[in-house]
Amino acid sequence: MIVAAVFLTLLGFALGSFAGVVAFRLPRGESPIGGRSRCDSCDAPISPRDNLPVASWLLLRGRCRSCGAAIPIRYPLIELALGVGFLASYLAFEDEGAAEVALACAFLFVLAIITLTDLEHRIIPNVVLWPASIAAFALVALADAGDLPQHLLAAAIGGGVLLLVSLAYPRGMGMGDVKLAFVMGLFLGRAVAPALLIGFAAGAIYGVALIARHGSEARKQAVPFGPFLAFGGVVGLFAGDEIVDWYVDSFFGG
Ligand SMILES: [Zn+2]
Repeated sequence: MIVAAVFLTLLGFALGSFAGVVAFRLPRGESPIGGRSRCDSCDAPISPRDNLPVASWLLLRGRCRSCGAAIPIRYPLIELALGVGFLASYLAFEDEGAAEVALACAFLFVLAIITLTDLEHRIIPNVVLWPASIAAFALVALADAGDLPQHLLAAAIGGGVLLLVSLAYPRGMGMGDVKLAFVMGLFLGRAVAPALLIGFAAGAIYGVALIARHGSEARKQAVPFGPFLAFGGVVGLFAGDEIVDWYVDSFFGG
């Protein structure tokens, strides 16, 4: 059990690092697999010892060894978050079986890539969403095939709600967000409802804070919405079912 927990944590760190590679290369039209990673500024190849998740960033104090260019802190943060997230997935879902743990880890990995690509390039790539949909479908089928209709319905409703929002408010939300909500529904099932609500709330709070700080200038700034949806997705993954149960009990229970 300890072995599995340690293994998954290390796998999370490694996949967090891979998420950074995918997010960096995909929008540039490069294959995420194979080839050495290079510095974005000076093009120097990054040696394996400078490519360790989290640790290398700390040892290098967030700078390239060759040219000293800053390495954005979001990379080690995503690596750390995915390591912790994989461990949390193991602890939360281990008693429900390996497929449930894999479903949670796959979801977190997808959210990590999308958070980075949306922050950096304002895109939520289809090449990530397609395999994510297939993985979600397959893992839900493995975990409990009887859950599939509920997850498909959640995907349709989640995507549908965001489609309506994007039509009403095209500046604030793109088709990438709509498709992400669909994928979140596939992974989460009914827990997608609190996930989307929390994502909207977090985005709204951030928007209000931005306007309070920068005035009307902030209104013109396009803020990527994917990371807020991803945040809602994480809360939905670990607490969504409890939130739905609490809501149903409070408002519809005896
Ligand atoms: Zn460099």
